[in-house]
Amino acid sequence: PVDVSLALDWMQNITSAMSRNEEHLTRLDSAIGDGDHGANMARGFTAVRDRLDDPSKTPASVGEVLTTAGNSLVSVVGGASGPLFGGAFRALGESLGASAEVDAPQFATALAAALAKVQQLGAAVPGDKTMIDAYSPAVDAFRDAAHSGADFCTSAHSAADAAEAGMRATVPLQARKGRASYLGLRSIGHQDPGATSTAYVFHALAEAAE
Ligand code: ADP
Ligand code: MG
Ligand code: MG
Repeated sequence: PVDVSLALDWMQNITSAMSRNEEHLTRLDSAIGDGDHGANMARGFTAVRDRLDDPSKTPASVGEVLTTAGNSLVSVVGGASGPLFGGAFRALGESLGASAEVDAPQFATALAAALAKVQQLGAAVPGDKTMIDAYSPAVDAFRDAAHSGADFCTSAHSAADAAEAGMRATVPLQARKGRASYLGLRSIGHQDPGATSTAYVFHALAEAAE
C-alpha cells in the first residue's frame, strides 16, 4: 500500500529524476517544441519538494501530498505541462481523499481519474504524440496488475514498463496536439518530451515502492 512516507519518497524521486534528466528533456523539446520542458519540470518539482520539505506543513494523508504537489506545479510551471501535470496530481490527490493508506486497486482508480483530468484539460487521445501516450498505457497496466492481485510494488513496475514502452512508441508518431503539432510531418522521428517525463514519474513511483 501507499502511505504518506511512500508518497513523499515518490515526489522526491521525481524531483531527482527531473533534475538529473533536465538536459535530455531540453534536447527533446528543442527538437519539436520550444526547449523549455526540462527547465519546466526541474523547476516545478523543485518547488514541490521545497513545499513538502516544510516541517510546519507535514501532510496528513497521501491525498494531501499529491494535491499539494499538483498545486505547486500549477502555480510554478506555465505552458502546456504546468496545468496538465499539476491537474493530474491534483486529481490523484482528490480521488484518494484523506486516507492515510491506499491499496493498489484504490490507487488504480485514482490514476484513471488523473488520466481523465489530463484528457479533459488537453483533449489529447492516445496516438497524438503527447504525455497521454505514456500515461494511458501506464494506467491500464497498473489497473490490470492490481486487479489480478499483484501488490503495489509489482503494479507500479508494470506501469513504469508500460509508460516507457509508450514513450518509445511516440517516436514514429506525428504530433496532433501541443507545440509539436505545428511542425506537422516534421514532428515524426522525435520522442515526445512530455511522454518522456511521464515515464520518469512512473519509474519514480516503482522505485519508491521497493
Ligand atoms: P510547452 O509546450 O507549453 O512549452 P512543455 O514543453 O513543458 O510546454 O510541455 C510539452 C509537452 O506537453 C509535450 O511534449 C506533450 O507531451 C505535452 N502536451 C502538450 N499539449 C498537450 C495536450 N493537449 N494534451 C496532453 N499533453 C500535451
Ligand atoms: Mg516546451
Ligand atoms: Mg513553453
